[in-house]
Amino acid sequence: MSREWEFSERVGRVEPSATIAIGNKASALEEEGVDVVDLSVGEPDFPTPERVREVGQEAIAAGHTGYTSSNGIPELRKAISKDLKGKGVPADPENVVVTPGAKQALFETVQALIEEGDEVVLLDPAWVSYEAIAKLAGADLTRVDLGQHDFDLEPALDDLAAAISDETSMLIVNSPSNPTGAVFSDAALAGVRDLAVEHDVTVVADEIYDQITFDADPTSLASFDGMAERTVTVNGFSKAYSMTGWRLGYLAAPEPLVDQVSKIHSHSVTCAPNFVQRAGVEALRSVETEVATMVEAFEKRRDLVVDLLADRGKMIPRPQGAFYAMIPTDEGPTDDVEWCDAAIEDAHVATVPGSAFNAPGYARISYAASEERLKEGFSRLAEEGLI
Ligand code: PMP
Ligand code: GLU
Repeated sequence: MSREWEFSERVGRVEPSATIAIGNKASALEEEGVDVVDLSVGEPDFPTPERVREVGQEAIAAGHTGYTSSNGIPELRKAISKDLKGKGVPADPENVVVTPGAKQALFETVQALIEEGDEVVLLDPAWVSYEAIAKLAGADLTRVDLGQHDFDLEPALDDLAAAISDETSMLIVNSPSNPTGAVFSDAALAGVRDLAVEHDVTVVADEIYDQITFDADPTSLASFDGMAERTVTVNGFSKAYSMTGWRLGYLAAPEPLVDQVSKIHSHSVTCAPNFVQRAGVEALRSVETEVATMVEAFEKRRDLVVDLLADRGKMIPRPQGAFYAMIPTDEGPTDDVEWCDAAIEDAHVATVPGSAFNAPGYARISYAASEERLKEGFSRLAEEGLI
């Protein structure tokens, strides 16, 4: 029996996540036996470091399978606080909320701060979920295009200054950036600080890729003078520790905000999984070498991707972090959505249209794939006349 559903106006404001949708499409084709080079979802292709897996298993065996205190186990909040202080972010354990993934940390932050009609500023190209998370809270979006400045923020500070006013509630900054791999300079971040302080804006600093950098050393926004009191630092374990499926992230914020976020947290997810939090403590403690090995591999692949594109006459800004690159879709079909359809259907290479990040004319690739698969993917794209 079918039933006519009436959905909330709120959920009608957003589309399903484009990154997840394309990943699902690639998996469906693979199930049909098609060999897909999947460069869509941003997910490291390495196993979670062995010691972290062991600690997770030991924690289950030891019976750490119940709820924890809502904001996270003290050991993990302490370890996160120590890590943040090492980056100059003055966050005590009480300032930390441990969440099932950084996405949940972003969601709770925006729910706690934004209401209908509040202005949220995004730097485009922007990761797909910022728009959705902001719109679910009723935000009006103002967008600043970094595309005209090779995806860099420093030369776009005047545009940002023009976008931000006393009416602005929140600015979301993601460096290293998904989808461009840009790492914003200290001068750019100081510019953000000046504007945020002048107009009393809350800044969400999504630093989930901060350990995956190559020729750059990103600074945490909350470490700048005047920023700790207005910054929500978001980070997580998915990327640096290859723990996407464990679902572990956090936010660090001033206590008044933590108190409000905690209400949303306790009424929605209760807490992050118990044994996962214990594995998280181990990740922060003991796997520096494994992280360095993964970062080295990403750097080699970054160089490979830039070279493969240069061989086809396409020069792109060299990404300095994360594991993404934006490829111009100026060959083949007329727009980036059709280009990505052709890429997956004809070349069996999964990519994400730039439009999903408000950057039409590009496709995002995740180069968290082996060098062989990247070469295979690019040769298929070339064969189909897409690059
Ligand atoms: N922020 C950015 C910029 C991301 O790319 C992602 C993607 N996974 C997230 C946050 C969320 O990560 P997770 O929920 O897996 O911690
Ligand atoms: N953040 C990754 C991406 O952009 C994983 C998928 C998602 O959470 O959107 O591909």
